[in-house]
Amino acid sequence: MSPNDRLSRSDTWYDLLQLGVKMMIGAEGMAALASPLPESLPQRYGLPTAQGLAWRAGRAAWPWLYRHHQSIIGLDQIDFWLLPLRRRLSQGLHTTVAFLQSCQGWALALDETSAEWHLEVRRVPPPHPDPAHVWCWFLGGLVQEFLAWAGGARVYPLRALTCAAASEASPCRIVFGRTPLD
Ligand SMILES: [Zn+2]
Repeated sequence: MSPNDRLSRSDTWYDLLQLGVKMMIGAEGMAALASPLPESLPQRYGLPTAQGLAWRAGRAAWPWLYRHHQSIIGLDQIDFWLLPLRRRLSQGLHTTVAFLQSCQGWALALDETSAEWHLEVRRVPPPHPDPAHVWCWFLGGLVQEFLAWAGGARVYPLRALTCAAASEASPCRIVFGRTPLD
């Protein structure tokens, strides 16, 4: 049974974060964490490892999104798969981001150039505070997994993940390159 089999449609984003992190640090590791993950992960593991765990949890969350919400996102339509690759990835990313926007917690904006996708993160799901911005890293992992899934298992590189203070005035930015790594 894969971890995704344990997920239901009604799971929250925090459920997804918890399950993804648990896959990597185990039940014992989870039991040793006293406060909610956005605070306890950096306290216990340090910033880079906490963000890496959140990234991996985001990647693990993509199959849940696909399984439970594909018809809303439109990714089960044959028309989607018939699009040329670059258009398919952009369209899929826009509809996925629009779906996230419709969920409680996320406030995002997606923009693109011929070379990059730019994702602005203005609000993230609870719990807060999130001093290490684990939600931004979770989202980065989720988007990278989507790109790999829709792009034939190619890896689209993270160019930048710049976290600002969590305020509407200065959003965090996640940048992916549109040319896959070899
Ligand atoms: Zn951030």
